[in-house]
Amino acid sequence: PAEFHGKHITVAGLGVSGVSAARALAGLGARVTVVDGGDGPALRERARVLTDQGVAVRLGDADTLPEGTDLVVTSPGWKPESPLFAAAAEAGVDVVGDVEIAWRLRGEDAAPWLAVTGTNGKTTTVQMLASILEAAGLRTAAVGNIGTPIIDVVLGDQPHDVLAVELSSYQLHWAPSLRAHSAAVLNVAPDHLDWHGSMRAYAADKGRIYEGNTVACVYNVEDPRTEHLVREADVEEGCRAIGFTLGAPGPSMLGVVEGLLVDRAFVENRQQQAQELAEVADIAPSAGPAAPHNIANALAAAALARAFGVPPEAVRDGLRAFRPDAHRIAHVAEVDDVVYVDDSKATNPHAAQASLATYESIVWIAGGLAKGATFDELVTASAKRLRGVVLIGADRALIREALARHAPDVPVVDLDRTDTGAMAAAVREAARLAGPGDTVLMAPACASMDMFTNYNKRGEAFAEAVRALETGRGADE
Ligand code: ADP
Repeated sequence: PAEFHGKHITVAGLGVSGVSAARALAGLGARVTVVDGGDGPALRERARVLTDQGVAVRLGDADTLPEGTDLVVTSPGWKPESPLFAAAAEAGVDVVGDVEIAWRLRGEDAAPWLAVTGTNGKTTTVQMLASILEAAGLRTAAVGNIGTPIIDVVLGDQPHDVLAVELSSYQLHWAPSLRAHSAAVLNVAPDHLDWHGSMRAYAADKGRIYEGNTVACVYNVEDPRTEHLVREADVEEGCRAIGFTLGAPGPSMLGVVEGLLVDRAFVENRQQQAQELAEVADIAPSAGPAAPHNIANALAAAALARAFGVPPEAVRDGLRAFRPDAHRIAHVAEVDDVVYVDDSKATNPHAAQASLATYESIVWIAGGLAKGATFDELVTASAKRLRGVVLIGADRALIREALARHAPDVPVVDLDRTDTGAMAAAVREAARLAGPGDTVLMAPACASMDMFTNYNKRGEAFAEAVRALETGRGADE
């Protein structure tokens, strides 16, 4: 940590990761200034607390570089073309993220990292992985993009044997020296293109996760982009490429054979071709039959755990113990023979496509912020399952146009609303369109921030509207 002592570090963004970075760096003897373009009461309160801890805070100006800055630590969401970074480049000052700081602070000394990225499934996979590692008796934590800021974890008092780390493409973009023990890219589909600029740049940032891996680079056999990223990566000698597939696995793969998760990559007994790990039915049994994408997530988690030497029984026990988070294909209620499902976490077309593939006859509630995505592939793949569509949110025209092109016969109700009450109206419209046996699926394929604080709030609004249907009151507008 001597590397930060006495340095003037500018932290970009007064959010959760910014506050965590500022505190930690100030604690290590750095002179820290946090800059944020906002200037509301909540930010001021947060600023006051930090100021008391010896951190300088500058609100209302996020564009100019404070005098004498030696290093910029950015929050993940800041766009690469932000003026602050241009100013840093001009001054020859490096820009890194909180993951890079965590790595430089403790790196592997804290514990080896098993890292996960992908357009969709990161949180689920990391939680499955942590559950498996715990079942193996290892001291671990699910960290990164997932909640606890990673700097707090590596500097904390809790000792760990291994960390299950969720990394977003943003965090990878700003973490040039990170070297994981093993890493998985679950899938690469268009998302956040407005941030990364292009699909190529987005994929390259995801591929960073493989750089310097020592034991295994885990890829998705069904998504050739991920295998390509492994081939491009510069890894340590002896590091293996391990595939996962929903089909029967080839050598060096994990896959599915007759309802069993099977490992052909880390087989202990040389006489054996394959090692049985668990039944598909062992995946979060309390949540009902596993959707195909969750089988894929389970295989990826199992691959990373096996790369770390975890025995087959722990994979099974960990998957059994795993409980999915809220707003991820969550069954809300059944009203008049129609099932209502909250997949608010489907914030991009690729995720929504996975959940649409889970049901047969669907009234789909969609719309929000598209973040530069297109909807043609999603609509084409799902058209035959759609009984009706209700659109809300800022970018709903993009979805409406894709529906007109690829599913012209599906009835569409465009609510033309972006207020918070729109969700209740959407649920009522969906109830009208749905017939017995149908599923009303709120999987918006878009981010929520045009209407809600976050996807949790969107999911809660949906659930509340469904409960109102149940009690026959009709929710408030
Ligand atoms: P992330 O952390 O990457 O956002 P989550 O595990 O929170 O991913 O899942 C987000 C949503 O993505 C889920 O609600 C589901 O609709 C979808 N999803 C999950 N896993 C996959 C996968 N492997 N492939 C495609 N979609 C997925």
